Amino acid sequence: MLTIGCHLSASKGYLAMGKEAVKIGANTFQYFTRNPRGGAVKPLDLNDVEAYRIFAEEHGIEKILAHAPYTLNACAKDDSIRDFALRTMSDDLDRLAHLPESMYNFHPGSHVSQGAEKGIELIADLLNRVLTPEQPTMVLLETMSGKGSEVGRNFEELRAIIDRVECKEKMGVCLDTCHVYDGGYDIVNSLDEVISEFDRIVGLERLCAVHINDSKNPFASHKDRHEKIGLGSIGAEAFARIINHPALRKLPFYLETPNELDGYQQEISLLRGLYHE
Ligand code: FE
Ligand code: FE
Ligand code: ZN
Repeated sequence: MLTIGCHLSASKGYLAMGKEAVKIGANTFQYFTRNPRGGAVKPLDLNDVEAYRIFAEEHGIEKILAHAPYTLNACAKDDSIRDFALRTMSDDLDRLAHLPESMYNFHPGSHVSQGAEKGIELIADLLNRVLTPEQPTMVLLETMSGKGSEVGRNFEELRAIIDRVECKEKMGVCLDTCHVYDGGYDIVNSLDEVISEFDRIVGLERLCAVHINDSKNPFASHKDRHEKIGLGSIGAEAFARIINHPALRKLPFYLETPNELDGYQQEISLLRGLYHE
């Protein structure tokens, strides 16, 4: 069975997200660990977490994906912004220790004017201060489109970060289809080649999740604008190949398309229809 879900609002808690996911035909979901543009966070409700875990077990909800806020910039120039990133990530991972059925995804960061090499160094540095061998959660670097000074705009940069991290066994990658296509990897015409390249540079064993988004812009635009599945430059046929690809078909897919719940429900059913059981 295809493992697919979408981005949900975390405002009503885990059980509410689990119920919402089931209602729209999803068997996983993604959510922001806190306000995407800020740092505030409610205390973790352990009763809600427990109720969710029972519900998830009963309804076959697979691993879920916690997304760090966009304001987390591990390679900011400003010490106080990097310090916020460190505190946010370590607090998020402390909370996620209560939800072993989850993974944590973050945008590597924007180096602003420091250069990618310095950015890579700062990101790995932060990960080395946060990650411990005991922590149960896999931490995923998201592939980025290369907008502005984003780090993670190609597979080499992700590999360079992972190379510098001590707890490598906790590190994975989340491949965003809109971002990689926008970043210059032609998953429409050369999916096999892109996957081989990922394997050669990062290693397919690190690939833990896929953000499944169409793109509003043409190939290699470096703009990062998501589109609904089938309405963008990637197109439904390419998504049929992506979800069925032997290297990808068992991974969890998370929609981050511009939709409300009913739109997500339609996309989930569209993609389930394209999946070869
Ligand atoms: Fe993201
Ligand atoms: Fe994404
Ligand atoms: Zn994006």
